Amino acid sequence: MGKIIAIANQKGGVGKTTTAMNLAASLAVLEYKTLVIDADPQANTTSGLGHDPKEIEVSIYECMVDGIDISTIIRKTSMDHLDLVPSHIDLVGAEVEMINLDNREEKMKAVISKIKDLYDFIIIDCSPSLGLITINALTAANSVIIPVQCEYFALEGLGKLLNTIKIIQTRLNPDLEIEGILLTMYDVRLRLSNQVVEEVRMHFKNLVFNTIIPRNVRLSEAPSFGLPAIAFDADGKGAIAYLNLAGEIAAKNSIEKVK
Ligand code: ADP
Ligand code: MG
Repeated sequence: MGKIIAIANQKGGVGKTTTAMNLAASLAVLEYKTLVIDADPQANTTSGLGHDPKEIEVSIYECMVDGIDISTIIRKTSMDHLDLVPSHIDLVGAEVEMINLDNREEKMKAVISKIKDLYDFIIIDCSPSLGLITINALTAANSVIIPVQCEYFALEGLGKLLNTIKIIQTRLNPDLEIEGILLTMYDVRLRLSNQVVEEVRMHFKNLVFNTIIPRNVRLSEAPSFGLPAIAFDADGKGAIAYLNLAGEIAAKNSIEKVK
């Protein structure tokens, strides 16, 4: 049975999409059958994995709102063991459309349940918001990864996010766990980066992943080639860091691989 991990932080630009793409690709390299669901109308994961969002007509939202079968919209990627549920820009209106639906927080969970057993890991890239789609992702997920940028105001908004997670645990998804807080865009030369690492580790202790993602230009270049970093610059320190993260997650979760 697949493990569903949401990548969430309502702050933009903290590395959610980079993490979703590269963690998923690294799990695929470790031969876990992996699916990435792009749940952000900006569709950066979709383009980053080589699909043009302008050519996408159906996304997870239409599955949630119009009852389209998710298995009909799964795309292959350039990598073995890595599939994608794409997104597209029209989805901005989806939250409004969903407001009147019954069980509106549990739509994504119902949609994913149909294909859950086909994958070892399902990674959901969330948008920078705590709106209904993100609530749906957190309700569908077994756990959440929270990327935190090693920058000024790193902890800003984290209290609100943790509070939202608590509310979801109480009302919608009692089994939701925090898979880990992931420090991203770390620059060894900057005192600030080191201060953030120290502060986050002091606050959140063993909730923080051992793996730290360095600032690495290849990680930001790879998406313009429609590739995860591991397929673009396999020996780069960014790609290696995400491979280490995948190893850390695989070690923590004893997943029996889907045949
Ligand atoms: P989010 O999805 O949280 O908005 P992104 O993953 O899109 O954040 O990252 C924001 C920007 O920072 C993107 O341009 C991305 O390429 C870049 N970026 C993310 N992580 C790194 C990193 N470790 N090193 C260098 N650039 C990064
Ligand atoms: Mg993003």
